[in-house]
Amino acid sequence: MKNDSSDKWGFETKAILKGQSPDPSTGATIPPIYQTSTYTLEGIGETKGYCYSRTGNPTRSAAAECLASLENGKFGFIYPSGIAAIHTVIQQLNPGDHVVTCEDLYGGAHRLFTQIVNKFGIEFDFVDARDPDNFIKAIKPNTKLVWLETPSNPKMYLCDIKAVVDKVKALAKSENREILVGADNTFASPYLQRPLDFGVDMVMHSCTKYLGGHSDLLLGAIVVRDEELAEKFAYHQNATGTIAAPFDCWLLMRGMKTLAVRMKQHHENSLSLAKWLEKHPLVKQVNCPALESSPQNDLYKKQMDLYNGMISFEIDADIEAVKGLVANLKIFQLAESLGGVESLSCHPATMTHAAVPAERRKELGINDNLIRLSVGIESIHDLQADLEQAFAQLPAAAKA
Ligand SMILES: *Cc1c(COP(=O)(O)O)cnc(C)c1O
Repeated sequence: MKNDSSDKWGFETKAILKGQSPDPSTGATIPPIYQTSTYTLEGIGETKGYCYSRTGNPTRSAAAECLASLENGKFGFIYPSGIAAIHTVIQQLNPGDHVVTCEDLYGGAHRLFTQIVNKFGIEFDFVDARDPDNFIKAIKPNTKLVWLETPSNPKMYLCDIKAVVDKVKALAKSENREILVGADNTFASPYLQRPLDFGVDMVMHSCTKYLGGHSDLLLGAIVVRDEELAEKFAYHQNATGTIAAPFDCWLLMRGMKTLAVRMKQHHENSLSLAKWLEKHPLVKQVNCPALESSPQNDLYKKQMDLYNGMISFEIDADIEAVKGLVANLKIFQLAESLGGVESLSCHPATMTHAAVPAERRKELGINDNLIRLSVGIESIHDLQADLEQAFAQLPAAAKA
């Protein structure tokens, strides 16, 4: 931007303008999709900052700069998927290193850790993230990374980011060693929670969810403040080729412009439905830390500015009734993924968490009667009416 006061901009202004100055050659207001693999040099050694699109592409840089500013970070990197971003973080480690992470981790991250990267000599321990001390207890002499995810999926548990960072960093300092802390901020989005402000070293996103916001792209991201870490990620991205296509980066930029208005509506709709569900006689438990009744409501208020669209609940019925309920929903579509403007329903035990062994699912409370909703931004009365009509068709409701 010409006169750069952009660091002081508010969130919404950054989302619309950061990294997105008019195109210098044409004045195009919206950054073009630079669909090019290479860049013509004016002479030997004379580039305009780009030489080959694996190393750097202006559309990708623009999206990365915008996202980095939303996270109050300095350097951003965009990857072809959220999982590719997590894999990138893990690849900064060496064989023999140890990672402490959350037990109700995103299923794909759990699979990556226990089926793929474990083969390269990296060890993982999974702890109940609701108590920060659990991370400290699991730290070993070879622990190099603590990996957080909050709110978690599908129980929407929160982890106190600042408490974990403070404890891990104090321990590392007292033992004169380095332990990095990273946070998967996918479920919150930077509009609700900015982990770098709580002291984490890196923030990761599946941009596929709230950042993109329209269920039409797959991308991942890492944002950091530290220049040395940024150099490592830039080097790694060029060396491994884990890059995102310009068109997807452009879609991400378009999505991020409306992040703030979308998140406010997700918050309003999901909280309204959570309150309604909480009162329903066939609902056993609603998982939503934004509810006053939640044991984590204080932490929610401390750590998050608003809530997202994610709630889960157990119904007092068997698996057949659960199947019937999701089948009868007309606006909530039965689908994996989350964070789009449209509302989705999901049955974690057979969908997102099917890869978790049944025994383990039981330990984690991912029961067969648990339903997860990604509440979109449709009219709230239509969403509630959809749930009402689906609940009314339950056999248990007919009996009552
Ligand atoms: C979806 C998701 C991922 C993986 O992202 P992809 O873009 O699907 O690869 C990682 N973490 C969380 C919390 C997610 O919801």
